[in-house]
Amino acid sequence: MNWLIVTDLDGTLLDDRYPNRKAGAAIDAVSAAHPDARVALASSKTPAEMIELAEHCGSDPILIFENGTGMLWREHVLCRPGSEKTGNWELERFGKPYGEILSALAALRMKAGYTFRGFSDMTPCEVASRTGLSLSAAEKARMRVGTEPIVWEGDAEAFAEFIASLAELDLKVVSGGRFHHVGSHLNKGQALGKLWRLLRFQFGIHARTIACGDAPNDLDMLERADHAIVFPSSDGEYLRVDNPSTAHAASSGPGAWLNAVSELLDHHQAA
Ligand SMILES: [Mg+2]
Repeated sequence: MNWLIVTDLDGTLLDDRYPNRKAGAAIDAVSAAHPDARVALASSKTPAEMIELAEHCGSDPILIFENGTGMLWREHVLCRPGSEKTGNWELERFGKPYGEILSALAALRMKAGYTFRGFSDMTPCEVASRTGLSLSAAEKARMRVGTEPIVWEGDAEAFAEFIASLAELDLKVVSGGRFHHVGSHLNKGQALGKLWRLLRFQFGIHARTIACGDAPNDLDMLERADHAIVFPSSDGEYLRVDNPSTAHAASSGPGAWLNAVSELLDHHQAA
């Protein structure tokens, strides 16, 4: 049986207590034990941030960046005519380019006087201090491809108006913990669907899908996948997921991720 495993990073495969190297080892362990399983990482992180993590893997995970805005893979993994090259990686974007999103934001700011600060307005130092990232990690987080994180500085009424104006431009706002993310109408679930179809029509692979996640921005992929594995949030609560095959991991981080994914794969291998 062929598998496509799409996993969120922060709060799922990654946990503050472990270095990225351990996450890379967990992905490699699944790939080694199940050569028929393909792993894709899906995150709100940028390509630059995700490549850094993927370099810790001996296997070649596909990277779904900025919440489904696009996808990256190592040259030999997929064949997609028209994809862009970036180092040893190929990149395909699904939504509007970053420049277009910044222009839309600048026009709205000019027209309506909205007050907000986006990553493009901030220095790497400011991004580092607002996020707790190191300076070099903040630089990578600023290398956006299709979404702009902003801090809203106006009132709630103006924010509702701002969201409506963006909707007219076919853009949406996803609110996260610290930032609101402005981007195209895309999510991780749609990216999972695209990847599944790619495997199906390019390689004739009819993969069963597993989605791993912990937060509302993972919900669509958790509900679309054949199997969902839900990871607890920091207060120990689990996201409610409408999927008849839902497992709950004991904790987040590479060890618990490897246990939960292996258990599901081994169960189906034995069946
Ligand atoms: Mg998460």
